[in-house]
Amino acid sequence: MPELPDITVYVESLTRVIVGRPIERILLKSPFLLRSVEPPISQAEGRVVRAVSRLGKRIVLDLGDEYFLVIHLMIAGRLRWVSRGAKPGPLGLALFQFPDGALVLTEAGTKRRASLHFIRGAEALRATDRGGLEVLDIDLPAFAARLRSESHTLKRALTDPRLFSGIGNAYSDEALHAARLSPLTLTGRLSEAEIDRLYHACRNTLTTWTDRLRREAGDGFPGKVTAFREGMAVHGRFKLPCPVCGSPVQRIRYAENETNYCARCQTGGRLLADRALSRLLKGDWPRSLDEIE
Ligand SMILES: [Zn+2]
Repeated sequence: MPELPDITVYVESLTRVIVGRPIERILLKSPFLLRSVEPPISQAEGRVVRAVSRLGKRIVLDLGDEYFLVIHLMIAGRLRWVSRGAKPGPLGLALFQFPDGALVLTEAGTKRRASLHFIRGAEALRATDRGGLEVLDIDLPAFAARLRSESHTLKRALTDPRLFSGIGNAYSDEALHAARLSPLTLTGRLSEAEIDRLYHACRNTLTTWTDRLRREAGDGFPGKVTAFREGMAVHGRFKLPCPVCGSPVQRIRYAENETNYCARCQTGGRLLADRALSRLLKGDWPRSLDEIE
């Protein structure tokens, strides 16, 4: 799922190509994509994009007069920019035609999870905000207070969109590895020093990856948005050597999720067994990717 770094780079690229330009036409190829009824989507046509921003893991197109298009890519949704005259490539779920090109929304696989909302009013937009804090905008005391506001495993706390914004499965794995903390540690058990480490690890992970993806995209549009990236320490690297200590990266599989960690760096060498885990965690683990939103 595209997370804060990926979405940030999408927002920056979109800002370059569509802000100040009118949406000439919207073609919806999938009947499942549009999840709002009022106002009708046709009212978005002809409107000029005033700004593009990120709201959690959503992308918001501000169309002026308090009209907003809200795109949620979920797991497999991706955006592509096709310049006018270029080959359109595979048809996606939706196409937004602009004077000098088209924004194409695609979704891999067969599960239709990506969504589009066309809403009116700042209040309606606020209602789509899950309330998570932006780790890059808050100080350490605010981070600590939010982390301790509910008792959860660290994995759950970091990926809960009500607690923190824009962090999903990939960057939580990376941040926990950088902080040398187990994904299963309960938030209430953390020492001040551990919270400090986690705070800085989250911020460093998010900024480092945003910078990196921004460099890769250059002046263009992000091409390969994937959860498994070359250069990640543990995420998507089951059995591969940890870049810090060389031990094989471990995994916890839980329903559709996989969490990766290094036993030597993060859990004092202990392996976290899948089966014991489901008993232990019960409700305190994102049960499916849908649940971590
Ligand atoms: Zn390690």
